[in-house]
Formats: sequence, C-alpha cells, structure tokens
Amino acid sequence: MDKKLQNKLYKKYPNIFKQRKLPMSQTCMCWGISCSRGWANIIDRICSILEIVNPEIEFIQIKEKFGLLAIYADNTNENGRFLLECAESMSGNTCEICGEYGKIRDLPWILTLCDDCYSKNKSHIMKSLPIGSTPILKGKEAKDFTKKEKANRNKVVSNKTIREALKSVKKLFTK
Ligand SMILES: [Zn+2]
Repeated sequence: MDKKLQNKLYKKYPNIFKQRKLPMSQTCMCWGISCSRGWANIIDRICSILEIVNPEIEFIQIKEKFGLLAIYADNTNENGRFLLECAESMSGNTCEICGEYGKIRDLPWILTLCDDCYSKNKSHIMKSLPIGSTPILKGKEAKDFTKKEKANRNKVVSNKTIREALKSVKKLFTK
C-alpha cells in the first residue's frame, strides 16, 4: 500500500499497528500493509470496530493471499477473530486496486478486481507478479487451482461467515 495511506491508518490506530516498529525477527508487520489501496476502507472499518470489541488486538501481518485480504493478529478474542473473517469476506468482492465492486479473476494467480481495473491492468498483471501473491501456475494446474479457490471462497462467504455473523452480532447487542 502507498506510504501516505498506510501512515494514515497507522496514525489512526496506533495500538492495533503497534508491531510495525518491531524488528522482522519478531513480526511481519515491519513489512507494512502488503495489499493495494482498494482495501484500505475495509481495514479502516474493521479497525474502528476492533478498537471497541477487541482493544488489545495487535496486527502481525496484513497481505493479499489468494485474492483475499489476510490479516494475522495477536491477542484476538472471539469478536476480533470474527471481524478478521468479515474483512476477508468483504475483500472477496472488493477491487484490490480501486475499492469498487470486484470479483475473482482467472489470471495465472488469484486477484479480486473490478471490470475496469481488470481490463486496464490485465496485460501488465500477466507479466508481473505482485508481492505476496500465489506463484504463477500454468495450463491445467492454474485452472484446477482457480476452481478450488473459487469453491473455497464461496464456502467461506455463504455458510460459515453468515452463521458466525449472526452469532456475534447477537452477542454484541446483548452485552
Ligand atoms: Zn478497480
């Protein structure tokens, strides 16, 4: 993520991003937020709720993994873990480049992009490998991988997350 936007999030949530100052022997947060700016709003929204429901949480690593926003953290509670899952699910239909509605793209590796960013960047993406992304797969291997990831993603969004969401929302309101 570009430094300006990243620093904005660091400044707004100094406790959640505390580990950014630790050496790489202790955390991956020292590498910064390893995804593009399109997901900044998701991170912002999640952090604003985490401050209330899981104030002791500390992010260890944030990156794009298989086209989804993956956030790893220390000191999580049940609400915190649920919110990190929500962030992952939301990224699944949010363009990583611009933040508009996006969907999974059948590239040699998995990315979530809107139609515009997909057509604008396709040739560039086909040639370069973004940081933290899945290695380039070719032919049948790539097709099988995409199919598997698509199935995984649908499963995450449709079943588990909705069930967990209902449980956690109920809990928040009964406190
Ligand atoms: Zn886009």
